[in-house]
Amino acid sequence: MDYSAWLWPECYAVFVTLTSYWETKRDCCAAICLLLLLLTALFSASQTAGSASKTKSKTSWAVVWQPIKLVNGAPVVFWVTPAKRLDSLSGNWLGHDVFFSFDQPSKTWYGIAGISLETKPGAYALQLKGTSGGQNISFERKISVGRAKYPTIAVTVSRQFTEPSPEQLQQINQEKALKQDVLRHFEPAREWAGGFVPPVTARVSDVFGTRRVFNGETKSVHQGLDYAVPQGTTVSALNAGTVLLAQPLFFEGNCIVLDHGQGLLTLYLHLSEFKVKAGEHVARGQEIGLSGGTGRATGPHLHIAVRWEGVYLDPATLLKMRLP
Ligand SMILES: [Zn+2]
Repeated sequence: MDYSAWLWPECYAVFVTLTSYWETKRDCCAAICLLLLLLTALFSASQTAGSASKTKSKTSWAVVWQPIKLVNGAPVVFWVTPAKRLDSLSGNWLGHDVFFSFDQPSKTWYGIAGISLETKPGAYALQLKGTSGGQNISFERKISVGRAKYPTIAVTVSRQFTEPSPEQLQQINQEKALKQDVLRHFEPAREWAGGFVPPVTARVSDVFGTRRVFNGETKSVHQGLDYAVPQGTTVSALNAGTVLLAQPLFFEGNCIVLDHGQGLLTLYLHLSEFKVKAGEHVARGQEIGLSGGTGRATGPHLHIAVRWEGVYLDPATLLKMRLP
């Protein structure tokens, strides 16, 4: 019988060698041959299983994100490769809507989102809903969120701001309503495009998330990023957007709020001068004002903030992201 047809060449060579011992060690050879046959069968079975899982992976979704390690207070960009071509894609993450855009060169969908400072460590689901030729398809991916390490500093604040006068209180309350109104503004269309650029070229004097403790009590959490810049430094837009607000406020001083669409806003505080007006469209990197020390500021510096759907996020992380 010709065994070469149903044995691997390597196995066959061994088989031929073994047959020479056939007469003397018949039982032993039979056992070895049986073992070889079993190994061949197992090998071919594993090959079949491998090709089956490859076929399966083509029909499933792929979700990646940046930054790779997600923490509370961080912005995040999700990159989604659906199982099939989609006409539209939307998502939900931590109770917020995520808007996706299609990147033609990489054939992936990307959407910006964030994780609030209050979010506890754990695994959270990114829920995805797509449409393809009038058909609805959905997918869910659990993503783990860790705890960020933010610094704590002991500070003293000016009495003027801890105990405002009745007139100042009236002003503060009026502005509270205005700020709520402005910050609630939501434009689903995307205006931002490409990476976010720093507003100034300067040293960072205070990072996002710093807990300010006064007499052992947490008075505030720094919800922005401070740059050490002297008065009169050109401040530019982090990305393209529309000016939502450009006016003086009690705490913020001369303040600019830009709307980049998809629920993403950037704020620029303590300015000495405005270079834009509300309603104006600005390009990425365009001069919008000059730095200063107006409002609640111990001295001239620039405070910027990033807000996504009502959540303050770390601007430094957003500035590091690579975006199409
Ligand atoms: Zn600040």
